[in-house]
Amino acid sequence: MIPSYFPQGDLVGVLTTQPLDRLLDYKAPEGGCHLGAFVEVPLGPRKVLGVVWGPGQGDYDSAKIRSVIRVLDLAPMRDEMRDFLTRAADYTLTPMPAMLRLGTRAPGLGDAPSMRKVYRLGTRDPDRKTAARDKVLAVLRDYGGLAFTLGELAEAADVGSSVVKGLVAQGAVLEEDAPRDVPYPPLDPDHGGKALNPDQAVGADALRAALRKEGYGTTLLKGVTGSGKTEVYLEAVAECLRMGKQALVLLPEIALSGEFIERVEARFGMRPAEWHSGVTMTERRRCFRMVGQGDAQLVVGARSALFLPFRNLGLIVVDEEHDTSYKQEDGVLYNARDMAVLRAALCGAQVVLASATPSLESWANAQAGKYARLDLTARFGAAVMPEMAAIDMRVEELPHGRWVSPTLRDAIANRLEKGEQSLIFLNRRGYAPVTLCRACGHQIGCDHCDARMVEHRFQKRLMCHQCGETKPIPVICPSCGAADKLAAVGPGVERMGEEVAALFPTARIAVLSSDLYGSARAMKAHIAEIAQGGTDIIIGTQLVAKGHNFPLLTLVGVIDADLGLQGSDLRAAERTFQLMRQVAGRAGRAAIPGAALLQTYQPDHPVIRAILNGDEESFWSAEAAERRGAGVPPYGRMAGIILSGPDLKAVFDLGDDMARRDGPLRQIGAQVFGPAPAPIARVRGKHRVRLLVKADKSAPLQAALAQWVAQFRLPANLRLAIDIDPQSFY
Ligand code: ADP
Ligand code: ZN
Repeated sequence: MIPSYFPQGDLVGVLTTQPLDRLLDYKAPEGGCHLGAFVEVPLGPRKVLGVVWGPGQGDYDSAKIRSVIRVLDLAPMRDEMRDFLTRAADYTLTPMPAMLRLGTRAPGLGDAPSMRKVYRLGTRDPDRKTAARDKVLAVLRDYGGLAFTLGELAEAADVGSSVVKGLVAQGAVLEEDAPRDVPYPPLDPDHGGKALNPDQAVGADALRAALRKEGYGTTLLKGVTGSGKTEVYLEAVAECLRMGKQALVLLPEIALSGEFIERVEARFGMRPAEWHSGVTMTERRRCFRMVGQGDAQLVVGARSALFLPFRNLGLIVVDEEHDTSYKQEDGVLYNARDMAVLRAALCGAQVVLASATPSLESWANAQAGKYARLDLTARFGAAVMPEMAAIDMRVEELPHGRWVSPTLRDAIANRLEKGEQSLIFLNRRGYAPVTLCRACGHQIGCDHCDARMVEHRFQKRLMCHQCGETKPIPVICPSCGAADKLAAVGPGVERMGEEVAALFPTARIAVLSSDLYGSARAMKAHIAEIAQGGTDIIIGTQLVAKGHNFPLLTLVGVIDADLGLQGSDLRAAERTFQLMRQVAGRAGRAAIPGAALLQTYQPDHPVIRAILNGDEESFWSAEAAERRGAGVPPYGRMAGIILSGPDLKAVFDLGDDMARRDGPLRQIGAQVFGPAPAPIARVRGKHRVRLLVKADKSAPLQAALAQWVAQFRLPANLRLAIDIDPQSFY
């Protein structure tokens, strides 16, 4: 048994966030420390953050062992969290220090709690009464002892802050220091629940019953966009709160709009804790602390919120569970959806995976009975799914350099007449994907990546979508020197904006693309304005496919439904199916029925046909059969190995060596493919080579991978990353 407390001087093993492959021994400080305590320890000349992971090893010269500097004022990490980090590290083959960094991603955790000034009612009367002073005192009396910040008090009393300061000088108002990290206000599970329709009620009942069993379970909540899934899982959140447990709702970063937070506030009377890239550092630290001490009941966050130190987590909702942004593609490579299931399994919580178009993985798990499944079949209220049709581009007459077919044009014109909105969807940022020299055929590429530069006319630059590098749009071809021969080839959303403006000169047009906004706030404001009818025609990328609600939108036109079907990605069909269904789901969310028109050169392609006839189950069954036949996920296991470095030959040599010495993999019946240049073979000047490992579903892949990789010594400038269950093949 590991002791839960170490008295002063006892040896403790500390896991730090530094890249070391072992625990370090220290002596417990004065006052001792608990297992899991967050501590500051000396490491060489530095002080670093760590967690007491267990007793010390004692295999180190005891005279040289130093003491823990101090124990931080934070709730110790719970066993369950240490367990989770360990298991997640094993699964993703991530070193523990990197895992701990994920679990401590709030700045200033070691700082003394920061303070701020607050104001309450004092005991003395002011020497002179004024109307303004009376207002301040009246507010303080009304709230019976509650503390205000200066700004809050001045605003509530409708006076200038100097009035408050004047009262402080006289002792009529007390100025005190109070900790800044205060608990989140309690949420009321019974505040604003909606009356559910019968489908929703069945779903909510099932989720409540699952929660009350107080054990692990996962439910796939499937329903078309607008069917009321959010209302259903908010009922599960309510039940979780009633049980006195904490809940976590994960959203794809892009969908973390104020809109959702407002919805939660309307439901529970108060705002939940938030955790995502738009939250200030102070607020992050507050969230981390309060989650740890149980003073945050509900967190709404992006994928990394999964690593917050919950005390008694009862429920994790993963909304839009199929979304690719749940897969972190940088640093620690993990899929938040899968890690949510792991975390819940370890702490006996329920998981709800919500989606209109679930991933094949989740569909298959439900099929196999590992997950429960709930279906909401109809849209809420009057709204119905849009009618879907293909526009066969082989027969449309379209001038060169134009992309809106006559059929789509007429449909848009019809909506304009009726005062309804249309959306033109093209998943390509910028003006044109290729800049070509008409004299020599040269295509302008990035200097650091094997990628073409994309013209962004709005910013008047060429941009590499791999590394973000930009350069001015040249006048002279960099290859042959011909002047004025460079031509934009192919459409991006900015170019669609021009074409649509020419077709409909009086329409109000908005181009929605993440790179066109200075800030997330500006983007949200614009989206809100569009939703209220400020625009007739919206032209957008993937950004609009997710989460936003445009009630007046009744037509969606997809410029190139074939776009995602090219390429060799094993998930190409699944992705196209999901994206097209999501985009189409934007139309007709309110009372007016919608239509979705897909421009395609392959109207008979099985995926396009499945999208059109809306027979989802048969699409999934067919896709599942294909993957099962090929032995690929979710019916087999895969891992990607990405090697990168500045010297192409060195990278390939290592790849060849790895492919040759594959003993540990062969032992579990796994196969290695490659090395091959990664689809984008050079990024930021680094050459990238990949190997792909395929194994049976039941094979102990991680252990074999670890053994295999351990055979090789990496030169200092070579990087090796292991991607378990790779999602994209970059
Ligand atoms: P989904 O999450 O499936 O896309 P939502 O939960 O966002 O669907 O519901 C779609 C719309 O219908 C929202 O505006 C929501 O407020 C409304 N709605 C859903 N269920 C109800 C209900 N039971 N009562 C009133 N409005 C509802
Ligand atoms: Zn680049």
